[in-house]
Parts: sequence; structure tokens; C-alpha cells
Amino acid sequence: MDFSQTPFIVIWETTQACDLACVHCRAEAQPAALPGELTTSEGTALLDQIADLGAAICVLSGGDPLKRQDLLTLIRHGKQRGLRMGTIPAATPRLTEDVVRDLTAAGLDQMALSLDFSTAEAHDRFRGVAGAFAKVMEAAGWAHRASLPLQLNTVLSAMNLNDLEGLIALVQRLGIVFWEVFFLVPVGRGSAVPALTASQHEEVFAKLYELSRRAPFIVKVTEGMHYRRYVLQRQCAEGMAPPSKNGHGPIGISPQVVNAGKGHVFISSVGEVCPSGFLPLSVGNIRRSPLAQLYREAPLMRQLRDPALLKGRCGCCEFRMICGGSRARAYALTGDYLAEDPSCAYVPTSLHAVASS
Ligand code: SF4
Repeated sequence: MDFSQTPFIVIWETTQACDLACVHCRAEAQPAALPGELTTSEGTALLDQIADLGAAICVLSGGDPLKRQDLLTLIRHGKQRGLRMGTIPAATPRLTEDVVRDLTAAGLDQMALSLDFSTAEAHDRFRGVAGAFAKVMEAAGWAHRASLPLQLNTVLSAMNLNDLEGLIALVQRLGIVFWEVFFLVPVGRGSAVPALTASQHEEVFAKLYELSRRAPFIVKVTEGMHYRRYVLQRQCAEGMAPPSKNGHGPIGISPQVVNAGKGHVFISSVGEVCPSGFLPLSVGNIRRSPLAQLYREAPLMRQLRDPALLKGRCGCCEFRMICGGSRARAYALTGDYLAEDPSCAYVPTSLHAVASS
């Protein structure tokens, strides 16, 4: 794929409405939808544009996508256009076994559920609603009964770092095809949540790498781009390559480096197009401009795809072509989306030379 022309994955935040009240919510979701949410016909037209762009995967996110009455229509339309479709329903009473069956019948390729702690008490406190953990456990069983591939999403921060071993043990028991581990970016309500330090990122990378070598599912890291540097360093040290998991499950991982605006694009519930949901800088609205034009030609998107523009350690790092750091975290913490990623502990070789001269 040429990421200057085609995103690998498109995230459409179908609504900001949600009945959970998660401590870290990027979207600062609340029970009522924002005025001006994209309509069903605008949504199907957007899916047509996504398919015409050649994107591999479209994820209908939220908020809670189940708060939209037309979710099944949107999934069916995306499938008719040849997209691999995923969605992330919130674990609320709206999520029932009938709903999981309907999602499967509509052609959904993969359902993701959020799981942030290994115990009900801690998870429910984080998600803001009692019963959320139990609903995830129940829904996992429904997904298996419907033969719907299941993904779990976990947001890692200083709040749940001590529970990582418990989470690893739990996710291995839930029969998933994909575990997506998000490293907290301080945006939205997440700006009040303590993030991991650079050295804590390295400790977590070690555990995820070990898991990835034995788990029968994909372990995908999001907003921890330097995991790619970590994996390459480990591969070199061990003289071996990790097994490819790209073909495992209906929604695999990109064989190329995906980053904000570089293989990844986000569309908000009211049509604003951003490089990522964690980098909330709009380059335009699909109500006024074609998605292809915004993704391919917007100056911000072009800058984000050019590793020569990176600054600080990322700018002189020998790993920048496979990493490039989290542009979203750089923006959230420094106000400059091209700045070095402050969550990375690595000191590029060229800076060693400067330090010793
Ligand atoms: S310095 Fe930047 S490019 Fe290099 S590994 Fe760290 S985050 Fe990645």
C-alpha cells in the first residue's frame, strides 16, 4: 500500500454518545449525541469514499456505536463495498446476545470490547458503570457462540500498570484473535490520567513481546510506536524474526508502519477529518471536501508522512523510518506534532557520538 494515497485503516467515530463514563475517554463521550452527527445517508456515502480510497479496514467506533439506530445498515453497506468491518460496542445493557448475533449476520468481521483491569471492581470504576466487566465476560461468550472473531482493547496507564500480569493472564483465557494495547495519550478526559514513564514503556514492551511470541492471537500496540524499535532490537539481539501474525484473524496488522495520517485516518461523528482520534487537528470536513483529497493533500497529513521533518531525538533516530514516535503524544505533551515522542527512552546513536565528542 502507498500510504500517501491510501490509508490502511479508517476509524469513523459514528457517535460521541455513550452510557459509560470512562475515566480516560478521548472523546469525552456523554449519553447524548452531538448535534450534527453524520446521518445514515452521509454515513453510507462516507463508506463509499473509504472503499474507493482502497482502505483495508474500517472501524465504526464511538462513543458507543450501538447508540446509533443504523449500525447494522452501516456494517452491511461497508461489507457490500468490500471493506473489512470492525466495531467497538460499549459494555452496557444495549449489548445483548441478540445484538451480537445481528452484528454477525450483518457481516461484521471483528468485534472489539474494552477491558482495562483483570477484576470487576477496578474495571467498573475505570469505566464508570457497575456491571461493565461482567458484560464484557458475557459478550465474549456470545461472540464465541456466534463465531464472531473477538478483539480486546486495553488502555494502559499508570492506573493499571500493576495489573498487567493479571490482564495478560485473563486475555489468554478469553479466546480472542487480537489484543490491542493502547498506551494512554493525554487527550480528552485522559489528560487527567497519569501516563506511563519512558522506562515503564520499555518494561511493558518486554512483557508484550514475550506474550506475542507464544500467544495464539495478534498483540497490537497502539500509540506506542517505539514498540517497533524495541522488537527490532530484540530480533537483532536474538538473531531471529518474530512469527508473522498478519494473516491471523479477519483484521490483521499492517505489514508497513502505520502512524497518524500515515496509513491511519479518523473521521469524527460530525465529519471532521483528523490524522488520528488522539491527534484532534481537523484538516477539513467530509461535508465540504472529499475524504481522498483531505487524506492525500492536506499539508498536515503530508507533514506527518515525511520522517525528514521529525524533530528532537525522533528526527535523528536510526529507527525513525519504522517508528517515528507517537505524533499524537508529541502534540498532546508539547503542542508540536513533529516533536520527539517524550515517552521513548531511546537515545539515538548519533547523539551518543555528540555526547562523547
Ligand atoms: S527516538 Fe523517536 S523514532 Fe527513535 S525509537 Fe524513540 S520514538 Fe522512535
